[in-house]
Amino acid sequence: MSENKIPYKTYLDENEIPKAWYNLRADMKTKPAPLLNPGTGKPLTAEELTPIFCEELVRQELDNDTAYFPIPQDIVDFYRMYRPSPLVRAYCLEKVLDTPAKIYYKFEGNNTSGSHKLNSAIAQAYYAKQQGLKGVTTETGAGQWGTALSMACAYLGLDCKVFMVKVSYEQKPFRREVMRTYGASVTPSPSTETAVGRKILAEHPGTTGSLGCAISEAVEVATQTPGYRYVLGSVLNQVLLHQSIIGLEAKAAFDKIGVKPDIIIGCAGGGSNLGGLISPFMGEKLRGEADYRFIAVEPASCPSFTRGRFAYDFCDTGMICPLAKMYTLGSGFIPSPNHAGGLRFHGMSTILSQLYHDGLMEARAVEQTSVFEAAELFARSEGILPAPESSHAIRVAIDEAMRCKETGGEKNILFGLTGTGYFDLLAYQKYNDGEMSDYIPTDADLERGFAGLPKVEE
Ligand SMILES: *Cc1c(COP(=O)(O)O)cnc(C)c1O
Repeated sequence: MSENKIPYKTYLDENEIPKAWYNLRADMKTKPAPLLNPGTGKPLTAEELTPIFCEELVRQELDNDTAYFPIPQDIVDFYRMYRPSPLVRAYCLEKVLDTPAKIYYKFEGNNTSGSHKLNSAIAQAYYAKQQGLKGVTTETGAGQWGTALSMACAYLGLDCKVFMVKVSYEQKPFRREVMRTYGASVTPSPSTETAVGRKILAEHPGTTGSLGCAISEAVEVATQTPGYRYVLGSVLNQVLLHQSIIGLEAKAAFDKIGVKPDIIIGCAGGGSNLGGLISPFMGEKLRGEADYRFIAVEPASCPSFTRGRFAYDFCDTGMICPLAKMYTLGSGFIPSPNHAGGLRFHGMSTILSQLYHDGLMEARAVEQTSVFEAAELFARSEGILPAPESSHAIRVAIDEAMRCKETGGEKNILFGLTGTGYFDLLAYQKYNDGEMSDYIPTDADLERGFAGLPKVEE
């Protein structure tokens, strides 16, 4: 290793954990489009949102101007249990790739939930508790968000009701047990517990479910049960705000070692880790202080950015949630059941959608077998067993590093390693047995999703 000056891991001190989250919207010239009331087509007001979400979270959701939100001390104290997270120089991966590129990753898998989602789960649970609520409802796909939320609720003494996409509920029984261990109740979705679940089951008997369906169920229960609100683990502006902790720490760690990243890469499901990771760097770019390349990576089987439409759409299948203007495949889009790598939401953060639309960020879609190939290479060189979601970012980081090898460029590449893959071993098994295939939706498949887009006058 020629560059021993740069440590394998750069940690901040505990007391260097950022004291405020950064709201990227404050620096955006074109703000993300507002959420609309599906009934009236008018921008949603705080009064309309407070029956669904906690009051402080509504304030954060709607605030496009305040650049910094102080992090309450209780949340900082919780963060101290697993933060700051390390910024790692992937020396071993660089060596295997024999690349002149310098590869760094910010590792968010160092907590029991195994992902970055805990950063927002604790914040959302905290504000629910502050408001005197009894509990929260939510959906979970692969299970990381449900696990993170159940950990946060256990810590604060809140009830937690999770609707888990049925296919994951069946494929990941151990995820469910982790959530139950933390005291959450877990229901496979669609279920017969809600009107919307019964309707979806009647229309699509035998469906394996989708995040969109599970969201509809969780919102229905939250709005009809006194003392409950709904919380969401991705997509929303407030979630990107909380996740800015990832980027703020990464930036502080880079400053410590005197390095500036050139390319910043993240996987994109609803956009929360990517939005959080890039926030302070994108802020500099928007203010004209520095330049970076940003790359969002999504599955070729659920390609919201690269093949979706930039349009107002529902966030849920039951069409009861607000309309968001985003890159979307249509709220009726359900990825092929053989899709194993998470990131299955049909839409995308309105903030990231606007940035992508304005040409400030690139996007790339990758096929799942190539994602698992990258995951395996990473596990064998860097030791960590990555989550399939995170491995989308690994794939493109490797591709960019190999491009540096061809061109002789010595780029600094940063990617978000959002979590670990211990609960994804069925997917790894498929890959190891040579039984994983790629499914790329046809244009006709996508047209069916687009046909369900609501007509909205802007
Ligand atoms: C949920 C999740 C993602 C994707 O969600 P985003 O909101 O797009 O960040 C990525 N990686 C892991 C490990 C996750 O749990």
